Amino acid sequence: MIRMAGPTQELVFAPLGGVGEIGMNISIYGVGNERNRTWLAVDLGVSFAAEEHLPGVDLILPDVRYLVEERKNLAGIVLTHAHEDHFGALLELWPRLKVPVYATPFTAALLEAKCAGEPGAPEIAVKVVPVGGRFTVGPFDIELVTMAHSIPESNALIIRTSAGTVLHTGDWKIDPTPILGDGTDENKLRSLGKEGCLALVGDSTNAVREGRSPSEADVAKTIAGLVKSARGRVAVTTFASNVARLRAVADAAKAADREVVVIGRAMERVVQIARETGYFNGVQDFRPMDAYGYLPPNKVVALCTGSQGEARAALSRIAEDQHPEVTFSRGDTVIYSARTIPGNEKAVGRVINLLIEQGVNVITDRTHLVHVSGHPRRAELEELIGWVKPKILIPVHGEALHLHEHAALARRCGVPEVMQCRNGDLLRLAPRAGHIDEVPAGRLYKDGLLLVEADARTVADRRRLGFAGAVSVALAVTDKGELVDDPSLDLIGIPERDREGGSMHEIVRDAILETVESLPRGRRRDPDAVAEAVRRAVRAAIAQRWGKKPMCHVHVLTI
Ligand SMILES: [Zn+2]
Ligand SMILES: [Zn+2]
Repeated sequence: MIRMAGPTQELVFAPLGGVGEIGMNISIYGVGNERNRTWLAVDLGVSFAAEEHLPGVDLILPDVRYLVEERKNLAGIVLTHAHEDHFGALLELWPRLKVPVYATPFTAALLEAKCAGEPGAPEIAVKVVPVGGRFTVGPFDIELVTMAHSIPESNALIIRTSAGTVLHTGDWKIDPTPILGDGTDENKLRSLGKEGCLALVGDSTNAVREGRSPSEADVAKTIAGLVKSARGRVAVTTFASNVARLRAVADAAKAADREVVVIGRAMERVVQIARETGYFNGVQDFRPMDAYGYLPPNKVVALCTGSQGEARAALSRIAEDQHPEVTFSRGDTVIYSARTIPGNEKAVGRVINLLIEQGVNVITDRTHLVHVSGHPRRAELEELIGWVKPKILIPVHGEALHLHEHAALARRCGVPEVMQCRNGDLLRLAPRAGHIDEVPAGRLYKDGLLLVEADARTVADRRRLGFAGAVSVALAVTDKGELVDDPSLDLIGIPERDREGGSMHEIVRDAILETVESLPRGRRRDPDAVAEAVRRAVRAAIAQRWGKKPMCHVHVLTI
C-alpha cells in the first residue's frame, strides 16, 4: 500500500529501550507526518535482572504499549542480530504486535530453536532475508551491511526513506581478521558516505575505551597456545552464540591433537545451527559427551556452557561435582573465554573458587587475551564517522557515560549535529532536526508466568518484605466498639525479641490494645479508622525496638 505523501514528509526516531541502560534494545523509525506515520521497529531485546535488586524477576523487557497502540501503522520489526539484548523479548512481546519479523538465516535459526525449546512459544512470522540483502518494509527501503561482532550475521541497517537515509549500526566492531565471514563491510559504508547519510544511530558500548578492539584472531592465537601447552584436560567456556570463538577452540584442539566434546544444551544447539548454516564448514566432527570419560586427559577439549556462573549450566555442575559424565582433576585447565556480565561477578567467582580448590588451573581475560569485546572502541567509532560522514549522530546502546563519551567524540570529529536522547524521546531527523515529542516507554518485568509493569506495586512490595518482613493483625470489634478478644497476630520475618529480651509479639499486642482503647468510642465503630490507627501503632512500636518498619496488614471484623 502506498500512502499519500503530504507536502511535509518527516523522518522521526525514538528509542524505546537501550538508551541510558545496558540491554533491552529497541528503536523505532517513523515516516509521514504528525497525523499519520508508518513505523519500523529495529530489534526487541531484553536485559537481565541480575544487575538490579528485583526479587523474583528474571528478565526486564521494554514496555511496547506505544507500538501496541500504533500496531496498524507498524510495518515490521527488523532484527540486527541474535543477541538476547536485541531479540530476547520477541517470544513474550511479539503476540502483542503480530507484525512480520525480518532476520538473516542465522538469526532466524536461533530464534526458531529458541521457540522450539519453549513450550507454548508463539509462531512468529519470520521473513528470512539474505546477508547483505536489500528489501522493503512498508515505506522503508532497507539494506543490510555486514558488521564484525561476537556472533555471526550482525547487521547494520541502511534505512532509506523519502525524507532521508539513516545508518542504524546495531552492534559492531572493525575486525580485519574476524575468523568467521568477511568482517565489517567497509566498501558499502564508504559508498553510503558518498551517497549521503542523514543520521547515524550508533553503538556506544565501548566509547570510553581508547584505540581499537583486539581481533578474534588474536584470541584464537592465545587459546591455541594455551591448549597446546596444557598437560591435563582442557575446558573452555564461552557464550554459545560466539561461533567464531567455538571455531577457534575447535582449531586449537585439532592443532594439539585433541578431540572436542560439547557439554551443555545451549552449546549443542548452537553447534548444530552453525553446522546447518555453514559456519562450521571444514570443522572436524565433535565427539558425544560420553567420550569425555574414556578419552585420555591430554586428548580432550571440553566446550562448556556456564561462563556466567549460571547454577544449572555445565561448568557450575562440574565444579560442584554434580555432573553425571564430566569431572575435573588436579592439573586440568579451565579457560574463561568470556567477559563477566555486570551482576554475575559473585556467581562466576564462586565457580572459579570451587575449581581452584580442586587444583584446576583457571585462566581468565584478566591475565590472558582469551576474550575480546564485540563493540567498537574510539578509533573505530572515528573511522566509521569518517566513512559515513553523517549530518546527525545519535548515540544509543549504552549507559549515560557511554552515550556522553560517544557524543563528545562525534562533536570532536566534526559531526554537525549530535542529538542525545532518552528512552521515549521522539526526535525529528528531517526536515529540521529537533526533539518534538515524547512517547510512552518503560519497562516490564517477567515475574513468574506474568509480565508486570515496572511501576506496579508487586515487586516493590516484595523488596520491602525482604528487607523488613510483615505483620498481619486480625481484630474483632462489637457494634458498640468493644474489642471482642485478644487480637490475632502473625509476625513474619521479624526478630522474636528486642535488645532487652522483650517479646516482640507482646510489644505488638500491647501497642494494639493501647491504641484501640485510646480511640474515642465513635471512631472505634469505624473499622477503617481502627485498622489505620493500629497499622501505624504497630509499625511505630516495631521501628522503636528494631529500627525497621515492616509492612503491616490489619483486618477488622465488626460483629
Ligand atoms: Zn547489544
Ligand atoms: Zn550484540
